[in-house]
Amino acid sequence: MHALTEAGIRRSLVNCSRSEAAAMTPPRDLAARDWPSLDVLGWRDARAELRGYLVHEHDGGVVGIALRAADTKMSSRRSAMCLLCHEVQTAAAVSLFTARRVGEAGRNGNTVGTYICADLDCAHRAQEVPPTARHLDEDAQAAAVAERAEGLRQRLAAFTADVLRR
Ligand SMILES: [Zn+2]
Repeated sequence: MHALTEAGIRRSLVNCSRSEAAAMTPPRDLAARDWPSLDVLGWRDARAELRGYLVHEHDGGVVGIALRAADTKMSSRRSAMCLLCHEVQTAAAVSLFTARRVGEAGRNGNTVGTYICADLDCAHRAQEVPPTARHLDEDAQAAAVAERAEGLRQRLAAFTADVLRR
């Protein structure tokens, strides 16, 4: 994705009020990010425990989605899969997030929910060789990573389309 500024991120948020967008705490080190390799910028709000954000390029523009994490954690003895990057990890590292829909649906309390890595750092996990491909040669591993990143982009686009649907 293209590099974003703090102001650009605030402007990109589609499903929260102006005051909520103003209260958003941006991620640290924005200028130091490796933007071209990022498919999505995701982070938890350092000053609002349950808030998080996913910002990515969608339909030729930049769309930022404000999320709210469920305040109950799942057991660390079980495993769970992030439904965006498909990383399987302990259930405590995955959280149920809800996003308010845009427009009237959102004002009426309509939300979209899904299980996502609790730290919202799916972009970096999708760049790792999946466990199922670790025994393969370099080319096959690169193909597995490319497929994984493509899967993340598709699932993210579907999630965003759901939030934007009026
Ligand atoms: Zn994830």
